[in-house]
Amino acid sequence: MATVKKVLPRRLVGLATLRAVSTSSVGTFPKQVKIVEVGPRDGLQNEKNIVPTPVKIKLIDMLSEAGLPVVEATSFVSPKWVPQMADHAEVLKGIQKFPGVNYPVLTPNFKGFQAAVAAGAKEVAIFGAASELFTKKNINCSIDESLQRFDEILKAARAASISVRGYVSCVLGCPYEGKISPAKVAEVTKKLYSMGCYEISLGDTIGVGTPGAMKDMLSAVLQEVPGTALAVHCHDTYGQALANTLTALQMGVSVMDSSVAGLGGCPYAQGASGNLATEDLVYMLAGLGIHTGVNLQKLLEAGAFICQALNRRTNSKVAQATCKL
Ligand SMILES: [Zn+2]
Repeated sequence: MATVKKVLPRRLVGLATLRAVSTSSVGTFPKQVKIVEVGPRDGLQNEKNIVPTPVKIKLIDMLSEAGLPVVEATSFVSPKWVPQMADHAEVLKGIQKFPGVNYPVLTPNFKGFQAAVAAGAKEVAIFGAASELFTKKNINCSIDESLQRFDEILKAARAASISVRGYVSCVLGCPYEGKISPAKVAEVTKKLYSMGCYEISLGDTIGVGTPGAMKDMLSAVLQEVPGTALAVHCHDTYGQALANTLTALQMGVSVMDSSVAGLGGCPYAQGASGNLATEDLVYMLAGLGIHTGVNLQKLLEAGAFICQALNRRTNSKVAQATCKL
């Protein structure tokens, strides 16, 4: 039995990786998907216990080694707000920079941007929300005012040839406002795009969306911004993240955010689980014959490493399935 235990997981992983389904049934899917791994930032920032810097660095290196093209490394937020990210400069300086891999960092303000650039960041991310009430409660201003605050970052980034990624949070629901109109999401996304963000990630921050809501929202956004400039970022609170991501894929979006081992949570929604697990996304895309460049076995090892370091069970179904066998 011991042999079976060792062999089966690899066989399962191999099946998903090698089996490219006929393109007739998946004609509308892109041939390639870019996965943006957000575990080291979005995932770890929700951890109560401070994760040691060498663990974060090793995780990012393992994710790079697994073939992920983008690994969001940390956040240059004030340690007063998010103590977990206080070691941002050490993390960014300590990681191996794999050729061809981007390591964007979150920069909530100009001070953070300057610190990120000083630490060697080549790409930064800024975030807005599609909910007025969420923005008001969090940063005490309107959505418009919140976006104006990024103007300085975008100008300085342009001058320094630094790419800027934008996030729009609460695109499928808000903890305060409830439903969010697709038109509002389209408006905010268009603003970030016209301000110079090369890619805008549409976040179901609290994980309440369904494929129907995703379809309505994306239909509105696609009228304003090309699909090539969009990404989706789905949390799995209601178990809809993979289905929502698949819906976006069918609508022409080919950049997907996910988090190794499904790390993360959301401070605003009770019982909220983390992001879509990268392992599950890679498994699904492999089954569709879509190229990601990610080695699932190495990704599973990165997931096992961080779960062991955090002393917790993985949220990835694929990781759970391959462990049990
Ligand atoms: Zn998130």
